[in-house]
Amino acid sequence: MNPPSPTTIDVALGARSYPVWIGRGLLGDSARWRAMLRGRHVLVASNTTVAPLYLERVARGLDGLQWSSFLLDDGEAHKSFANVERALAALAGLGATRDACVIALGGGVVGDLAGFSAACWMRGIDFIQMPTTLLAMVDSSVGGKTGVNLPAGKNLVGAFHQPRAVVADIDTLATLPDREYRAGLAEVIKGAAIGDEPFFAWLEAHAGALAARDETAVVEAIARKLRYKAGVVARDETEQGERALLNLGHTFGHALETAGRYTTLLHGEGVAVGMLLAARLSERLGMAGAADTARLQRLLETTGLPAAVPAGFDPEQLLALMRLDKKNTAGTLRLILWRGIGRAEIVGGVAGEEVLAVLREAIA
Ligand code: NAD
Ligand code: MG
Repeated sequence: MNPPSPTTIDVALGARSYPVWIGRGLLGDSARWRAMLRGRHVLVASNTTVAPLYLERVARGLDGLQWSSFLLDDGEAHKSFANVERALAALAGLGATRDACVIALGGGVVGDLAGFSAACWMRGIDFIQMPTTLLAMVDSSVGGKTGVNLPAGKNLVGAFHQPRAVVADIDTLATLPDREYRAGLAEVIKGAAIGDEPFFAWLEAHAGALAARDETAVVEAIARKLRYKAGVVARDETEQGERALLNLGHTFGHALETAGRYTTLLHGEGVAVGMLLAARLSERLGMAGAADTARLQRLLETTGLPAAVPAGFDPEQLLALMRLDKKNTAGTLRLILWRGIGRAEIVGGVAGEEVLAVLREAIA
């Protein structure tokens, strides 16, 4: 029996273009992804949570090749330079040549580290993303940003290195905890909020189906978010301009994540609250109306995402953290704000007092 045809998105980057396949049974559909391998060496990177669930499906497709697996412990803390060195040692152990391929089977942590290791080995070999979280499917697996954390900060070391293919097998979402699933939905909503109002309206109409993980709705949501992101990446691969819009909600969100010591909020949850704060600031600056903020708040609430700053946060501390953002210039803040749903903009020269006023109101 042939597996059903997946939904396909093409990321158009000239000679480095690649397909994203979205659908069921794709890990087991090895004929499809194996055609992307150039050589005989494969390193499958995964982690100790995902490998017991899904490595076997991938392994069945690697018959006859020289391959091994490299497993990280679970968690953001393991997206480290030390583990890149271990991954490279695993490639050396395989005797991997320049036509070798790294397969990243897991969430964004595995994908970022495996992609960066592939970028480093012999100055760059192929890698294939097999994302198993919704966040990795709709965000981190596409676009070519790879890297690891340093003790000094998140994602401080990295490279642009595009995958050869992205295999988004939605069967893997069956084991994903609800909270992680919803955090991925935040990055879907973000794409619509930035630049695709019709998609936002579609999300409003399908919020219930998405919260219930209805298969058709999930595939459509992933595909629409990725079509939007793929367009942005194709126009601005290395973030000289437009790609920065993808950071809507992220300056507020990162401050919330950091202030909560990365234990209070997942990244997607921080982005959800952060987008709402960005909408309120846009309103305060006279850029957008209250109706758009209300629509965003309602959509976050119906998909089960946080739409308020959790108790215990300090506005002054959050502002101080936001001032550390790489986008800023001296004295003022540079933020992604919007003129309404689907119309995000990069705005420089935002006064700290305006940001503080929004934070105080949200936390009061
Ligand atoms: P993650 O990789 O930590 O995965 C979240 C949790 O889900 C982990 O505990 C993981 O083991 C588990 N898991 C994964 N797949 C599962 C499955 N199918 N069933 C059950 N459990 C499963 O986190 P994430 O949210 O996927 O990714 C976050 C990372 O992605 C961060 O490091 C972030 O910096 C990075 N990121 C990168 C980009 C990019 O463009 N490169 C974009 C966004 C985020
Ligand atoms: Mg993000």
